[in-house]
Amino acid sequence: MNIQMVDLLSQYDKIKIEIDTQITNVIRSSIFVKGGKVTEFEENLRKYLHTGHVIACGNGTDALQIALMALNLNEGDEVITTPFTFVSTLEVLVLMKLKPILADVDPDTFNISPESVMNCVTEKTKAIVPVHLYGQCSDLESLMNIAKTHNLVLIEDACQALGTEYHFTNGETVKAGTIGDIACNSFFPTKNLGAFGDGGAIYTSNDELGNSMRSIANHGMGIRYHYHRIGMNSRLDAIQAAILDVKLKYLDQYILARQNAAAFYDHELSGIQGLSIPVRATYSSHTFHQYTLKVPGRRDELQKYLKEKGIPSMVYYPIPLHLQEAYQFLGYKPGDFPIAEELSQQVLSLPMHTELSNDQLNFIVAAILEFFN
Ligand SMILES: *Cc1c(COP(=O)(O)O)cnc(C)c1O
Repeated sequence: MNIQMVDLLSQYDKIKIEIDTQITNVIRSSIFVKGGKVTEFEENLRKYLHTGHVIACGNGTDALQIALMALNLNEGDEVITTPFTFVSTLEVLVLMKLKPILADVDPDTFNISPESVMNCVTEKTKAIVPVHLYGQCSDLESLMNIAKTHNLVLIEDACQALGTEYHFTNGETVKAGTIGDIACNSFFPTKNLGAFGDGGAIYTSNDELGNSMRSIANHGMGIRYHYHRIGMNSRLDAIQAAILDVKLKYLDQYILARQNAAAFYDHELSGIQGLSIPVRATYSSHTFHQYTLKVPGRRDELQKYLKEKGIPSMVYYPIPLHLQEAYQFLGYKPGDFPIAEELSQQVLSLPMHTELSNDQLNFIVAAILEFFN
């Protein structure tokens, strides 16, 4: 059986005619950068999210950098984020000459713990950047309370959570990325909404931030060739926008396919001694960018066993950021974030995509049951 972590070709095959037509239309329009399809896609995504501004940009890493640039922070200002994430979140803070302050995560949700964030706040703290890891929201209501109390900006790294819903305690439900002051998204091919190359977006409901981020993404330009601030060149090209605009129509269907696969895994794998299935937070839906098990003690052994059966699996992430070689200068040491460190030894993500068949799911689950028997 041919099983992949992510099967983008089968997904494309089902919408090939639509996608190919839209790509041809862009080529025939000869509007390749800005305007045209890019504007259309931004507007459609804005409506999907129910937010004020969507600004398409080059990738998710740029989105984070543009968000930080818009805040006019000073060198050495402190920004709190998680050690258990993709490197971008930390990388851009360092590139911006800000001081990253890491706060440990919650062992059940893998997301930054509001309690550890609270312990990190000083008078130099300016922002918090929670990451909605694997497709489930951080505890945003608690984090927003901390942000409000201490007058901090909250930037949601929503790169893994497009389409995820956040449930407030008052019953209100909104999309991930519309709660903090700014949110960042990535259209990397394997993300919930993936381009055929790189892409990203920034969202905000704040007009002032929206206008300055749009300008920053375009060299800091206002009127053509009038530069009001230092910016960068970060844009989504029209061919990617056209592809994303087609796929956006199917996003909810794609999310449902992921959730159905996750429900099957949950059902078949719950109760096995030696592994834990993903914990669902009460305040968030889960769009399962990744379906991630905890396998204390036997993670590598299970991964090897699955590999021998032709089943891929991945470790996101094997080394927490504070223990990465490049970030030693921050001065953290082993033991500083015990939960992130323990999780990096335990997590294993199973194949998760929109095209998993029942046969494939059964085969994967049977192999895992066999391993633990
Ligand atoms: C993918 C990802 C990014 C970066 O996105 P790119 O488009 O690859 O630059 C940032 N943060 C998180 C949590 C991600 O998963």
